[in-house]
Amino acid sequence: DSFFKNHLAQTTPYPLSIEIEKAEGVYLWDSDGKRYMDLVAGIGVSAIGHGVQEVKDAVINQMEKHLHVMVYGEFLQKAQIQLAKQLTELLPSELDTCYFVNSGAEAIEASLKLAKRVTGRTKIVSCKKSYHGNTHGALSVTGNEARKYAFRPLLPEVYFVEFDNQNELREIDENTACFIIETIQGDAGIRIPSKDYFQAVRKRCDEVGALLILDEIQAGLGRAGAWFAFEYYGVVPDVLALGKGLGAGFPMGAMVASKDNMRTLTVDPPLGHITTFGGHPVICAAAHAGLRYMLDNKLVEGVDAKGKLLFELLSGHQEIKEIRYRGLFFAIELANEEIVRQTVVKCLEEGVILFWFLSCPTAFRIAPPLTISEEEIIKVSKIILNVLDYVSK
Ligand code: PLP
Repeated sequence: DSFFKNHLAQTTPYPLSIEIEKAEGVYLWDSDGKRYMDLVAGIGVSAIGHGVQEVKDAVINQMEKHLHVMVYGEFLQKAQIQLAKQLTELLPSELDTCYFVNSGAEAIEASLKLAKRVTGRTKIVSCKKSYHGNTHGALSVTGNEARKYAFRPLLPEVYFVEFDNQNELREIDENTACFIIETIQGDAGIRIPSKDYFQAVRKRCDEVGALLILDEIQAGLGRAGAWFAFEYYGVVPDVLALGKGLGAGFPMGAMVASKDNMRTLTVDPPLGHITTFGGHPVICAAAHAGLRYMLDNKLVEGVDAKGKLLFELLSGHQEIKEIRYRGLFFAIELANEEIVRQTVVKCLEEGVILFWFLSCPTAFRIAPPLTISEEEIIKVSKIILNVLDYVSK
């Protein structure tokens, strides 16, 4: 513990500091043998649960063939091809070309660069309270000033509009390269926009020739009860950014767009986005096995019913001010930040892992593995309700 505190960089002065020994299904075990139910899945990553045998097998199989052999985009690597095939089969036909990268933030960086190349424009419009990652470009389009002021100057020509407000879409104009938006705002505390809004967004982008970039790094791949959250809105983005659950527990991001648009990164200059490790064959093999696991077990089809059950079980407690959710993507709004802190800490004591939102301190998040069973939902809801009774005394 003291080596961790002194020689591994900390992200806050208050890390949860559980020493993890192993993980399986929806459970984690610490080094004292205490079991925790994982209700955040490494912040939306372990969608298929921990320790899936099919993923381990795919990793070992690929490791026996080859590890890294060349920077992304030069060699033909089967693991990348089969993943791209699987992913594009799940997507509308316009989104037919994948660019694999190392993280969500890199997918955002690459998407912004792609929009500049496709349109020849530089202005970017984004949303207030959005979260798109922590590299300089991704931070520039993140709508949370508290996270940004210490790192200025950031990208110029980035403008922010209110999320889910059609009146502000005029900011997207003939100078705009792209409008970047989370289909469901995650870090802002699960904010779900209206269908009308997204229809208007798509229309406005088309009118002025701006690309629509949807960030589904957190909301995509089943989390919100559909393969992609944009399916709820009847719109198709020009660029889709994915990450988190995509790598089945490994670090990975992807930007998906049309072949025509993607081609702009290959010329003038060529290699418009370079990444050494993007599309790592072992990670692609894991990601492919993860998608197969979701398909074979019809995981996405079960998400809505599980979300509804969790919602119903938690509803009605006097300490809960509001529950915002879609699928298994939840924000539970309490009276204030202190009650949230006490709830997260007490739940941890009781063997349940919850977590915070950066931009919504009055709520805690629940985003469990999509494999969580009804019995586990019933069991964990009781624990959370007991903890809420305890903290409200
Ligand atoms: N976009 C969204 C919506 C996210 O939730 C995140 C991470 O939380 C990112 C982008 C950044 O992804 P990464 O942390 O892999 O860089």
